[in-house]
Amino acid sequence: MTQHHYDVVIIGGGISGCALAYELARYTDIASIAVVEKYDSIATLNSKGTANSQTIHVGDIETNYTLAKAAITKRTAKMVEKYCLQYGYQNTILFSHQKMALGIGDEEVEFLLHRYEEFSELFPYLEVWDKEKLKNIEPRVVFDENGNERPENIVGIGAKGQWTTVDYAKMAQSFITNAQNEPNTTVDLFLNSPVTAIEKNPIRGYNVRTNERIYSADFVVVNAGAHSLYLAHSIGHGLDYSCLPVAGSFYITSQHILNGKVYMIQNPKLPFAALHGDPDILAKGNTRFGPTALVLPKLERFTKGTYLDFWKTLRLDLNVIRALWKLLRESDIRNYIFRNFLFEVPYFNKRLFLRDARKIVPSLRLDEFEYAHGFGGVRPQVIDKNQQKLMLGEASINTGEGIIFNMTPSPGATSCLGNAERDLRYIVQYLGKTFDENRFNDELTDGEYCVLSAPIEEQKRTVNAIRDAMHAHEKEYYEEIHVGKPHESFWSRPHSLWRKK
Ligand SMILES: Cc1cc2nc3c(=O)[nH]c(=O)nc-3n(C[C@H](O)[C@H](O)[C@H](O)COP(=O)(O)OP(=O)(O)OC[C@H]3O[C@@H](n4cnc5c(N)ncnc54)[C@H](O)[C@@H]3O)c2cc1C
Repeated sequence: MTQHHYDVVIIGGGISGCALAYELARYTDIASIAVVEKYDSIATLNSKGTANSQTIHVGDIETNYTLAKAAITKRTAKMVEKYCLQYGYQNTILFSHQKMALGIGDEEVEFLLHRYEEFSELFPYLEVWDKEKLKNIEPRVVFDENGNERPENIVGIGAKGQWTTVDYAKMAQSFITNAQNEPNTTVDLFLNSPVTAIEKNPIRGYNVRTNERIYSADFVVVNAGAHSLYLAHSIGHGLDYSCLPVAGSFYITSQHILNGKVYMIQNPKLPFAALHGDPDILAKGNTRFGPTALVLPKLERFTKGTYLDFWKTLRLDLNVIRALWKLLRESDIRNYIFRNFLFEVPYFNKRLFLRDARKIVPSLRLDEFEYAHGFGGVRPQVIDKNQQKLMLGEASINTGEGIIFNMTPSPGATSCLGNAERDLRYIVQYLGKTFDENRFNDELTDGEYCVLSAPIEEQKRTVNAIRDAMHAHEKEYYEEIHVGKPHESFWSRPHSLWRKK
């Protein structure tokens, strides 16, 4: 069996592994890097264009992001954009679509207007679109099948002219090509090389085994999706964590139902992104709706096997059962799980999905979309067994012993360069190498973000106009009249409780 030595071995050739190889090659003096990938080409699983929503999740229209989270995501999302612009990948890897978060009904509209006020300094390009404006920009969110306006109040908070969409598989391939073009660094890519074992070397570093070769490395980063935790467990790390693979599926149309990305408002109780409609860059811009969310007992979506790997990585015990039970106790989550299960059952799936999708496009018809066979992937959600909790974000186990394991559910593709930067900083310190931070900042980051600009004032006028119209309407038809004291039981009605908060 042949043995190769590298400064750094990266296991997994998805967007995360390839981004790290690129950053190490371009911005450090690390001399040799290997990327070891299980399949016959890179980015065939979750980073593939049909597996994810192709979105750069900046945090501007994703209503589940807090301002603090959006400030971080914005920095890492900008890196994706800046990298693509640096190499001239506009309209081959990087695309621009209009995008918006859509609020439907007075409560959601007020929520979005409030959010706009909070987020507009971080995202000065955001615009506020009322129903009249939406009739031009995104007419199918306004009209029903008879051509009538939907009765509810709606608002879109969105942007035009931003870079929004990426073919992450092509981007991963470009990372490897550009890394290999860097002088003074060797970057070797090994395909068809599933890693079967990792062993700690008694003197320094690790041995990474495949059936054909052994790679020795001073530092190892495991970017193998859900299999990262599987490999961590195999070497005694991350035993307090368990992995719940949550598959996401899509429904695709054969036409441009939407002109751009339309995101619904997130139910804060639900752990996954709300339904959205996106133009699919690999399907002539036709609209793709999704993703759904379904727990699957396997670590990879469309490949054979990995059922046993799932059970091994789940490490089922009382803590995992308690974590799952806590989720199932919530009626919103229970219903969501059940609904998402039905989204996979032929006949019922389309009809049920239609009801949800009509919230975005009231005139959508059954004959306008199909279950997208072969689309979708798996989000490796991590369960913290000590806290008995499902973690929503990404998980990284840095052992402090020259090996890191990364699990990257959504928006892991957007944060690929940011996550790589985090690992790069640690690796250079650990190996005593240098990081050309100035070049990195010049090429990949964007400096200051919070710039207050005149357009915000203009948008705020629209916000106030929408609010005034809503209040006038409310005053005319919905004013509450209380004569005398209401019966005590009134306050125990769920609506009243909600109002009292
Ligand atoms: C339905 C859905 C929608 C999404 N939408 C978005 C979106 O719009 N925007 C966004 O930013 N993110 C999105 N994501 C998340 C994003 O797709 C992932 O976070 C990202 O692709 C993860 O990349 P990765 O390289 O870490 O993992 P992967 O792409 O899963 O790559 C892991 C690689 O490791 C390899 N590997 C595994 N085991 C081994 C082994 N033993 N030996 C060698 N190699 C191995 C695999 O073959 C694979 O190539 C979405 C995810 C899903 C499922």
